[in-house]
Amino acid sequence: MAKGLNIYIKGDGIAARCCAHLLRRAGAKVFGDGVASARVPAMMLSPLAISLMRDVFTAPALFSNVFEIERRYVTWGATERTAIPHASAVISEGALLAAVPPPWDGDQQIAPEECDFTIHAALPLPDGKPRQRFGAREAATARIRLKDSDGRACEIESVGDGWLFLIPTAEAAWLLAVGGPVETLLAASRQIGPRVEIEAGGGEFDCAPGMAEAVQGEHWMACGPVAVGFDPICGDGTAHAVREAILAAAVIAGIARGEDRRALLSHYRAVLTLAMGRHLDLCADYYRSGGDSPWWRDQGDALARGRAWCEARMQSAGPRMYRLQDFDLLPLTAGAA
Ligand SMILES: Cc1cc2nc3c(=O)[nH]c(=O)nc-3n(C[C@H](O)[C@H](O)[C@H](O)COP(=O)(O)OP(=O)(O)OC[C@H]3O[C@@H](n4cnc5c(N)ncnc54)[C@H](O)[C@@H]3O)c2cc1C
Repeated sequence: MAKGLNIYIKGDGIAARCCAHLLRRAGAKVFGDGVASARVPAMMLSPLAISLMRDVFTAPALFSNVFEIERRYVTWGATERTAIPHASAVISEGALLAAVPPPWDGDQQIAPEECDFTIHAALPLPDGKPRQRFGAREAATARIRLKDSDGRACEIESVGDGWLFLIPTAEAAWLLAVGGPVETLLAASRQIGPRVEIEAGGGEFDCAPGMAEAVQGEHWMACGPVAVGFDPICGDGTAHAVREAILAAAVIAGIARGEDRRALLSHYRAVLTLAMGRHLDLCADYYRSGGDSPWWRDQGDALARGRAWCEARMQSAGPRMYRLQDFDLLPLTAGAA
């Protein structure tokens, strides 16, 4: 329980909203700035992401009427175009956030300094340290028209210096271009390029994986992409952000119960570092096999540097002391895994 605590939440994304909801449910008073970041026009929601959000918001029907993808076409590196069964919902980030409660109630407001704890789900972080970035790549989005359409299929294709991801929605189709401008990557594409016309340019997003040097302090935690940024190639950024929010709320509830603050916050740092390491392994599989130009090699090298950074960081983590059960962090009894 977090009864009696005042929590300040910076940010307005899904991490901020999940944290706020869980903490309110645990009895805390939640305040915030509601600062919104740029929204991705179309993203895939895995069954895991949906199930986690349904649990957090106790809303079993959440996202039950969302457009669904049934197949994924993959043309990656030397492989020929292949169709793979794929179950995901597609939604704009704006629609996703509109379906869940906002992070704070809005009327009453107090300053973060007057709160017991601050969740930073938006930049900047209080320590001001530079972020560790494991690669350098931007993602550009564009709304497109498909000349031929397998309306329930998404498609991913690696090209000379980057990759393309095509996502249909009920209303339009969107393209994500990673590594260069949409037009340049489309011109280099064998599969997607000849079948699409750009209708309108979209936003640009930083999308190389990275992690904040410090994800926690005595009275704060970073949560969501500001703490650990995932490459959209994993397609599961939302599930990661929700899991982080569940863990952050559980750390605060543990502190409120009088458990060891330092140990709980160290656990948070260790779990996020492990998640980053696992994500970098997954990315490495893709970036090692996507192509053999200097661009692909540079991304692969940066991922390997990131892996080494995570390993070094885990060496100072100490033994694992907690496990998450439902929404609570329970101390591990001696000998338990
Ligand atoms: C191009 C793109 C495509 C995506 N596609 C999918 C998808 O298909 N499925 C899916 O589940 N998720 C996807 N995601 C992730 C998703 O958009 C959200 O990032 C995720 O759901 C959690 O975000 P949030 O709402 O909590 O934080 P947000 O509100 O998105 O961001 C919070 C803060 O983090 C900062 N921030 C964001 N990214 C970074 C970064 N890399 N480095 C440093 N700071 C950063 C923002 O500026 C903001 O201040 C994608 C992300 C991008 C960028």
